[in-house]
Amino acid sequence: MNYADFHRRSIEEPDAFWAEQAKLVDWHKPFDTVCDYSKPPFVTWFAGGQTNLCHNAVDRHLATRPDDKALIWVSTEVDKEVVYSFRELHAEVQRMAAILRELGVKKGDRVLVYMPMIAEAAFTMLACARIGAIHSVVFGGFASVSLASRIDNAAPTVIVSADAGSRAGKVVPYKGLLDEAIKLAKAKPTKVLMVDRGLAKFERSAGRDEDYATLRSKHMNTQVPCEWVDSTHPSYTLYTSGTTGTPKGVQRDTGGYCVALAASMKHIYLGKPGETYFSTSDIGWVVGHSYIVYGPLIGGMATIMYEGLPIRPDAGVWWSLVEKYKVTSMFSAPTAVRVLKKQDPAYLKKYDLSSLRALFLAGEPLDEPTATWISESLGRPIIDNYWQTETGWPILSLCNGVEQLPSKFGSPGLAVYGYNVKLIDEATGKEMTHSDEKGVVMIEGPLPPGCMQTVWQDDERFVKTYWTVLDGKHMYSTFDWGVRDKDGYYFILGRTDDVINVAGHRLGTREIEESISSHANVAEVAVVGVADQLKGQVAMAFVIAKDASALGDQAARLKLEGEIMKVVDSQLGAVARPSRVLFVTALPKTRSGKLLRRALQAVAEHRDPGDMSTIEDPTALQQVKALVG
Ligand code: ATP
Ligand code: MG
Repeated sequence: MNYADFHRRSIEEPDAFWAEQAKLVDWHKPFDTVCDYSKPPFVTWFAGGQTNLCHNAVDRHLATRPDDKALIWVSTEVDKEVVYSFRELHAEVQRMAAILRELGVKKGDRVLVYMPMIAEAAFTMLACARIGAIHSVVFGGFASVSLASRIDNAAPTVIVSADAGSRAGKVVPYKGLLDEAIKLAKAKPTKVLMVDRGLAKFERSAGRDEDYATLRSKHMNTQVPCEWVDSTHPSYTLYTSGTTGTPKGVQRDTGGYCVALAASMKHIYLGKPGETYFSTSDIGWVVGHSYIVYGPLIGGMATIMYEGLPIRPDAGVWWSLVEKYKVTSMFSAPTAVRVLKKQDPAYLKKYDLSSLRALFLAGEPLDEPTATWISESLGRPIIDNYWQTETGWPILSLCNGVEQLPSKFGSPGLAVYGYNVKLIDEATGKEMTHSDEKGVVMIEGPLPPGCMQTVWQDDERFVKTYWTVLDGKHMYSTFDWGVRDKDGYYFILGRTDDVINVAGHRLGTREIEESISSHANVAEVAVVGVADQLKGQVAMAFVIAKDASALGDQAARLKLEGEIMKVVDSQLGAVARPSRVLFVTALPKTRSGKLLRRALQAVAEHRDPGDMSTIEDPTALQQVKALVG
């Protein structure tokens, strides 16, 4: 089918379009209304319908593929690999569901998951869905204060955790952090369920802490049927990455999410039942929710859950898994590709990757040099896709399952079906209708199925944060800035906060970064706008050099700085030239690998960087502080 028609139909006849997609999932009770948008910007998808995410991810495959692989857990941290068939996964999920029930969890209760990348984390999420409990997964490794605020927000009945995670072979104990967080939190869980991996000793609080293995052995054969829930029943809450400020708690429904994921497996991620999907993300992020746990399983695929680094034991480890499990769709992030880029490219040629239909990348801008590098090294198609925790699945992508369209490197592709994407002029609120005009990426309501219902327990924050009314229409802002070419391909230019205004010229930090990264000795770069008395703002660049030996002394640094400025001059013009290029060995990033530009900017302007709860390595920021003086 022609993709343009497919997209047009999704916008002009949403009811017919989504009723069709809804056939991809099982309904216990059919819905009465496809889309109820009577209280904008709130929308209800598949009202009156009843279904269950766990049924669609697990139980419904028992009839057709009970012995197919479902969950493939691989850990290069503890050197273990366990494969669960759909039958085995079904049994484990029922055991976990029985345990949660025994610990007092009822439909609508929250269960907070603070776990490393172990199979039991997936069992917990699916078990929650099974009994209608709402999970709130908090990235394992968040420190006590961030964890405590999430505990307070979710007010969970039960917290499921583990003794420890592991990173680069080093044990990262969890329980001490968890105990501290519970002490700090006002909302106290009644029970804490501990999965003991035998990695770290921990203290048990009598009467509160329970042992998973002990309870599991009691429930080896307990049957826990799926609880049929309304389509609108919240399935989970999850926080955004905290790149631009304090993280927002996203609330997701059940029916719309189930349909959106099933449809995306078919139209975007090219997955077929019986095949294998490998997403390298973490269950603590939205990609982990949608495309490690729910999406692939709903699509009847095996999913690989990987605990470990991309470069340990060596940089070939991911590709060895692609070969071994004949992975057909793989999903990763540009930040991971940049890590691989620093390794020996021979590892990308060592394994048979012929099963792979495409490597999907999302989470941050995929610059053209990185896209070209990974595409040439792998010899497989690369598909950039753009979305947010809020949406739960892609806003922009190529939908090659509908029609094969060419990639344009640097662009995440076209508006995905269901999304009525508009570029809006920030100053006038008018739509940019000509190609190559820059604007804020907005989505005209209603948001399609699967997107956030609201901010958890804060409808007002949802409306105030994301929505504006333009020409009588409710518009959702992504807070990203973009441009569309004549073929309808979008290019994301950066966050709306990242627009630099140099003497009246509006520049995207992304454009300058893209230009700087074309210099042969630049491994990574971040550009921020810094207040300047004369010009309003100037660009400042922080660069990680590929070859640090070229930075031996001040003269060498100045030489490279001069070369980089020249590159920008020739590509974008002198107005975009950074006022300074500073060399660092690390950039401040969130734990999900996103550049914390607001922190760089604050430090460069000698301000307090604000909420740094999601920063990965605080020393990266100290380095910057030392440099800017
Ligand atoms: P917060 O909302 O808390 O500030 P965040 O926006 O980083 O954090 P996420 O929901 O994880 O939280 O990330 C979504 C954002 O990531 C998008 O709004 C966009 O800025 C960026 N992004 C995601 N995918 C892409 C992509 N393919 N190309 C460019 N940018 C992307
Ligand atoms: Mg965001």
